Amino acid sequence: MSILVIAEVSGGKLRKATLNAVTFARQLAAARGDTVAIGVLGAGVGGAAAEAAAFGPVHVVDAPALATCTAGTWAGAVADLAGAVGANAVAATSSTFSRDLLPRVAARLGAGMVSEVVAVTPDGRFKRPMWAGNVVATVEVKTPKAVFTVRSTEFALADPAGAPGAVAAAAVTVADDGKAKVVSFAPTVSARPDLGEAKVVVSGGRGLKDKEGWKVLDPLADLFGAAVGATRAVVDAGIVPNDLQVGQTGKVVAPNLYFAVALSGAIQHIAGMKASKVIVAINKDEEAPIFSVADYGLVGDAFKVVPEMIEEIKRARAG
Ligand SMILES: Cc1cc2nc3c(=O)[nH]c(=O)nc-3n(C[C@H](O)[C@H](O)[C@H](O)COP(=O)(O)OP(=O)(O)OC[C@H]3O[C@@H](n4cnc5c(N)ncnc54)[C@H](O)[C@@H]3O)c2cc1C
Repeated sequence: MSILVIAEVSGGKLRKATLNAVTFARQLAAARGDTVAIGVLGAGVGGAAAEAAAFGPVHVVDAPALATCTAGTWAGAVADLAGAVGANAVAATSSTFSRDLLPRVAARLGAGMVSEVVAVTPDGRFKRPMWAGNVVATVEVKTPKAVFTVRSTEFALADPAGAPGAVAAAAVTVADDGKAKVVSFAPTVSARPDLGEAKVVVSGGRGLKDKEGWKVLDPLADLFGAAVGATRAVVDAGIVPNDLQVGQTGKVVAPNLYFAVALSGAIQHIAGMKASKVIVAINKDEEAPIFSVADYGLVGDAFKVVPEMIEEIKRARAG
C-alpha cells in the first residue's frame, strides 16, 4: 500500500510546503513498510508534476474543474485518486488549503484523521498537540485508511529521492460538484518573504497601538529580510490582515529568529511560535509572559528601544 502526499501548487509551481509532508510520509512508510507517492492535482500542473518527480513517483490529475480550489470538488478528486492508486493514507502539510480539504477527503474515504501531526513514533502512532500546545497526545488510527495533516515546523523539507520518480496521469474523472465557485482571487502581494517560510520573523502586538505605531517594525524587518507577523489582537483591531496572524488560530512558524515586539505572550500566541530557534522579546512590562519563552528579553518602550536596537545592529554590522 502507499501513502499519497497531496502537493500544494501555486502559480503552476510546487510549493515548498509539500516537502514537509513528503518527509512525514517517508517516516511513516519506514515504520509500516509502505511506499510514498505524490498526488499533483490542478489545471495545467505539468510543471509542478515534473518538479515533484524529484521526490518520488507522481500521480497527476489535470482537469479544468480543478483550476480553482473549491474543497468539495477537490475532495472528490483526491478521494478518487487515493482509490485509483491504492493508497491507504493521504497526507498534506497543514495549511489553509489542506485544513479545508483533507477532513472532507477523510469523510469520503471513511478514514480516521489525525491533524497537526508533530511526530511519528517507531510503532506507527502519531503525536499531536492539544489545548494550544499544552499537552501532546499520542494517538492511533484504527481505520484501514487514514488521513493526516502535518506541522511543517516539525518535519524538515525532504531531500530529492535517489532517482526521479515516474510521472503518470491517473485514471480519475473530475466533475465540478457545483456547490461552490470561486468568484475572485486576490493574492497578497508583498515584497516580504512568506511567513511560513521566512528565516526571521518580526511580530508585533497590541502595544504598537495603531497603523502608525506598527510602522516601527518595518525597518527592523527590512534589516533582516524578515516576514512580519502579528497577534490576533492586532488582526482584530484591523491594523494588519489576518494572514499575518501567528498562533493557535493563525500560522505556526519556527524561524531561526523571532522578534516578539509589544505583545504579551498569550498561550494562543506562543502555540504558534515557541518552536522558533531564538526568541527575542521586547516589552515594557517585565512580568509579560513572553519573557518566559524568550532567549533574550529587553524591557522597555518599543517605540524607543526598537529604533535604538536597529542603530546598534547597523553599527555592529558596519564594524
Ligand atoms: C480560541 C482563541 C484563539 C486565539 N488564537 C490566537 C492566535 O492564534 N494568535 C494570537 O496572537 N492570539 C490568539 N488569541 C488571543 C490571545 O488570547 C490574546 O488575546 C492575544 O494574543 C493578545 O495579543 P497581544 O499580545 O497583542 O495583546 P496584549 O495581551 O494586550 O499585550 C500587549 C502587550 O504590549 C505591551 N506593551 C504595551 N505598550 C508597549 C510599548 N510601547 N512597548 C513595549 N511593550 C508594550 C504590554 O505590556 C502587553 O504585554 C486567541 C484567543 C482565543 C480565545
